[in-house]
Amino acid sequence: MGAIEIFTNNLYFYITVVSLFLLFLVISYTSLDTKQADGVWLFFWGLTFEFLASWFGYTISEYQSKPHFDVLVFSELCLLLASLAFMSLAAFSMLMGKKDSKSFVWIFLVIAVVAVSYFVFVAPNGDMAESMRTVFPLTAFIIMALSFWAKSKYGFGYKLASLVCVIASIILIFKLLGMNDTVQDLWYIPATTYVLLSVAVLIIKSDTLNHSLKESRQRVENHTNQIENIIKSSPFPIIISRLSDDKIIIANNNAIKLFGIKSNELERYKLRDFFVDQENRRLLNEHLEKEKEIKDFEILVKTATGNTPFWLLTSANIIDYNHDITVYLAFQDITSRKNREAILKNQATRDPLTSLFNRRYFEEEVKQLANRSGPPFSILMLDVDKFKNVNDTYGHKVGDQVLIEMAGICEKALREQDIVARYGGEEFVIYLHDTNEEKSKAVAERVRETIAASKMDIGEGQTIGVTVSIGVATSRLSVNIDELVKMADAALYKAKNNGRNRTEVFEKEDIKDLDTIIVKKSSSLHPAFAKEENQEISLLDGIGANHITSGANEIKKEADNIINPKQDEK
Ligand code: GH3
Ligand code: MG
Ligand code: MG
Repeated sequence: MGAIEIFTNNLYFYITVVSLFLLFLVISYTSLDTKQADGVWLFFWGLTFEFLASWFGYTISEYQSKPHFDVLVFSELCLLLASLAFMSLAAFSMLMGKKDSKSFVWIFLVIAVVAVSYFVFVAPNGDMAESMRTVFPLTAFIIMALSFWAKSKYGFGYKLASLVCVIASIILIFKLLGMNDTVQDLWYIPATTYVLLSVAVLIIKSDTLNHSLKESRQRVENHTNQIENIIKSSPFPIIISRLSDDKIIIANNNAIKLFGIKSNELERYKLRDFFVDQENRRLLNEHLEKEKEIKDFEILVKTATGNTPFWLLTSANIIDYNHDITVYLAFQDITSRKNREAILKNQATRDPLTSLFNRRYFEEEVKQLANRSGPPFSILMLDVDKFKNVNDTYGHKVGDQVLIEMAGICEKALREQDIVARYGGEEFVIYLHDTNEEKSKAVAERVRETIAASKMDIGEGQTIGVTVSIGVATSRLSVNIDELVKMADAALYKAKNNGRNRTEVFEKEDIKDLDTIIVKKSSSLHPAFAKEENQEISLLDGIGANHITSGANEIKKEADNIINPKQDEK
């Protein structure tokens, strides 16, 4: 309030300085994150220059009669001009939210218009310096009052600041109208102005904070609505569950149907309720915590009522949803794909008649197993004695039934680590894990005796018995599975030749005869069976045997006539 002479008392001066400093502190604190920081700071510097001009003007009044007094007055006016410039800049900055070069042009245009109007129309003969001490601050306060008022819709802080500027302007108008005496003793006006402005700035700060809080709440709400809409319209089942307590917050209609959730009791469910395997669930969470997202993760789930488990492919992300950290999961039902995979895998590894492993699987698996575990291990080759007679007497169907029963007997007689497979026709092959020669012979004998003692059910209350011959080869002679299979086959040939229903072990001395035995064995077969023997899976494997043509049966009979007398001779 430049024109108000406040410094007649030192105490008044100090109080004013302290209140201005208070305003400085308040602005420093609030300007940290207030959008209007620039405007408020410019306003503060305007007030500071105005205060300096006021103090300077009062100080130099003592030097009136001294030389260069004009220069001092000019300096004071420059301070006033600076103050006005800062305040105008503050007004522009607050109204437009930024400073730019256009603002400067406007400021000085306004100042020029005000000054010219005053000196031309109001006080053409007045004391120029004295007039400017009042006119400049008055202009500044009016501009500030207007710009604060323009923002009054943003809260009470702006209204208060505007009111303070209006009061300051009124006092300055009194001064301008020559009512010096009335305002002469109001030393507390500047201090009160600064304090009230500090309060106004604090209120502005709190209003701004409230406003941005409201804005961010609104943004979160919009974001939440957007997510909800996306989820609802998705063709995939989608669930959002809270990370902290696993509770399901949102499930779209597809997910509700898929999991059999009651939509009005959504909050009752936890994501883990739908996992069949909690280890699966733990892995999913572990991965999510590390990577924040997961793609194409297979999970086995069940419905809310715990019905038949089914497979889902899921992609999941950690997202912020409605002030919570949540897991967003989208699912795809892959049960039929999984079933198809299982069937294909089964078809590729199992013999359809006996459900035992097939020859291909046996060879691959046993080679890996033998490699991993190392010796001792053994291979047993088992062939039903005179099986042709069974077929001839009872028909192929009964023959098939016998093969199925035999498969069951073999599986029961063996341990879990052992592997039994249908090698082809009525031949079976067995891998005995961690079994030396002595033990493997004992196992072979046990299997043979069990089969010989079994009465196999062939329907209509009838039973038949069959015997088997078994050849044994152990890792003592070779750790190569292909070689061991050949040796076991040779030992089986020995068992057949030595009278059937017996077990023979392939010995070291037999090695020299190995090739001859194999040649003999295959030459003893009719061409039709030589072909069968060489195939990985016999033509007569499983259902193949049921579909055998009458032509093939004739060839078979012919073969029986060739082979049987020869073997019976021995
Ligand atoms: P042995 O082995 O004691 O010398 O006499 P065998 O009569 O069993 O002779 P061989 O092993 O040479 O004949 C096997 C017969 O097994 C030929 C075929 O009719 C029969 N067979 C092979 N696979 C099947 C099948 O899947 N189902 C049926 N029912 N018979 C099969
Ligand atoms: Mg046989
Ligand atoms: Mg055979």
